[in-house]
Amino acid sequence: MQDKLLINGVLVAGHGGIENIVNPENGETIAQIPGASPAQVDDAVMAAEKAFETWSRVTPSERSALLAKVADIIESRAEALSRLESLDTGKPYQRMLEDEIPAIVDCFRFYASACRLMTGSAAGEYFEGMTSMIRRDPVGVVAQISPWNYPLMMAAWKIAPSLAAGNCVIFKPSENTPLTMLELAPFFAELLPAGVFNIVAGNGPEVGAELAKHPRVRMISVTGSVNTGKEVLRLAAGNLKRTHFELGGKAPVIIFDDADIDHAVETIRSYGYYNAGQDCTAACRVYAAEGIYDEFSAKLAEAVSTIKYGDINDPEAEIPPLITARHRERVDGFVQRALATGHIEVLCGGKPVDGAGYFYEPTVLKGALQKDEIVQEEAFGPVVSITKFDNSIAQAVEWANDCEYGLASSVWTKDVGRAHAVAARLQYGATWINTHFMLPNEMPHGGMKQTGYGKDLSMYGLEDYTIVRHVLVTH
Ligand code: NAD
Repeated sequence: MQDKLLINGVLVAGHGGIENIVNPENGETIAQIPGASPAQVDDAVMAAEKAFETWSRVTPSERSALLAKVADIIESRAEALSRLESLDTGKPYQRMLEDEIPAIVDCFRFYASACRLMTGSAAGEYFEGMTSMIRRDPVGVVAQISPWNYPLMMAAWKIAPSLAAGNCVIFKPSENTPLTMLELAPFFAELLPAGVFNIVAGNGPEVGAELAKHPRVRMISVTGSVNTGKEVLRLAAGNLKRTHFELGGKAPVIIFDDADIDHAVETIRSYGYYNAGQDCTAACRVYAAEGIYDEFSAKLAEAVSTIKYGDINDPEAEIPPLITARHRERVDGFVQRALATGHIEVLCGGKPVDGAGYFYEPTVLKGALQKDEIVQEEAFGPVVSITKFDNSIAQAVEWANDCEYGLASSVWTKDVGRAHAVAARLQYGATWINTHFMLPNEMPHGGMKQTGYGKDLSMYGLEDYTIVRHVLVTH
C-alpha cells in the first residue's frame, strides 16, 4: 500500500502524526499512514508557489493533455482503485466500479476540455482611445481539503478544475480515507512538473489547519461539515485568502398528491440510502402530501426493507456500513432521540446491525414534525424522515426552506407550473423535478446558507479557481 506523501514532485514519508486506517466492514486496521508535519506542509506550499511561476504560463492545450492523462490513468486502474476505495470506505465494490469511477474519469475529461474554452473577453472602449479587456487568471497556490464519504470523487471535483485553471495545489484527503489518493501519488509525480500538485495526509485540526492559516496559500477549498468550514474561515482570515465551501446538507423531498408515488418511492429508496445516506444531497427529509402520506410511507418502508447490504463484495450489495463506530453511534443517537419524541414511529430499521462492521439498518421514520431534530439536522446515515404537509405550495416552500442547509432539493408533481413555482422559491443550490441526485459534470453543484458558497463542477467550478482582472490599453 502506498503510504508516502507527494511534496515537490517527490514521494516522502510523513513526519507528522500517524492515522490508523480502519476497514468499516469489519473494524480491522488496514494501514497506518504517517501524516505531514508542519514543516512538510510548509515545504509543499513553498514548492507550489515556486512551481506556479511556470505552471501558470503552461498553455491550456498542454494542461488539457495532462488532465486527460489523469483520466486515462484512473480509468485503466479502475478495478484496483475500486478495490482500495472499497476497503477504505466500505463502499460496495461494484457500486464504486460502476457508479463512481466513470463519473470521476468523466470529471477529469470534462475539465481537460473546459480549460481550453475559458477565456476573458475584450470588453470595449469606455474612455476614448482606450480599450478595456478582461483576463481570467489562476489564483495561485490553492489548498484543498476533502471529506471521507467520496474520497476519489471529491478529490476529482477539486483537483481537476483548479489544475485546469492553472493553479498549483496542495491536497489534503480525509484522515479516515487517504488510501486511493496516496495510491495515485506516484502517477501524479511522474505526470506533472514538481510542485504543481502535492498531497499532504493527516488530520484536520493539525494538517488542515496548517493549510488554512498558511500565509502563502491564496485560496482554500473545503468539502466537509459546517463546523469545519467555520473554523477554516476563521483561520483563513489571517491573510484574507479566498474560501470555497461545500458543507453539509439536509435535502427536502416534496411530494405533492398528484406525484407518481411508485417512482418517488423507488428514487428515495436509491438516493435516500445511497452510500448509506452519507451524502450531502441524500433524499433524507420527505414532505408527503396528506392525501398520499400513509400510502407513500407504507410503500417506502416496504421498498427500503429490501435494500441489500452486509457483504461489500457481493455484486448485489447496495449500501456500505457507516464510516466509523463513532459515526454509527452518532446516527443511532439521532434515531433514538427521534423515537423518544413519542410522535415519530419507526416503519423499518432503527438500530445498528450486530457484527464487527459498522452497518446500520436502513431506517424510515414516520410522523416527524418540522421542528424535530431529525428534520433540521444532518444525520448523515441511512435514515429518511417523513413529515405530512397540507399539499399547498406555501407550506411546502416554508418548511423546505426552514433549515440552515441549502444544497439540494427535489419536487414531485405532474403539474409543471407547480413544480416551477416551488423550484423558483426554494433556497437550494439544486432542485430536481421528479427525480433526485442527478449531478452531471456540466452542471454546477454548490449550496446556499450554511452549506457555504462556491461551485463544484461545470464552468462555474472552473471560474471559481480564477481571478477576474481588468487590463486597459491606450491607442
Ligand atoms: P469534516 O468536516 O469532519 O472533515 C472534512 C475535512 O476537513 C477532513 O479532511 C478533515 O480532516 C478536515 N478538517 C476537520 N477539521 C479541520 C480544521 N479545524 N481545519 C482544517 N481542516 C479540518 O467532514 P467529514 O465528516 O469528513 O464529511 C462529512 C461532511 O461533509 C458532512 O457534513 C457532509 O454534508 C459534507 N459534505 C458536503 C458535500 C457538498 O458537496 N456540500 C459533499 C460531501 C460531504
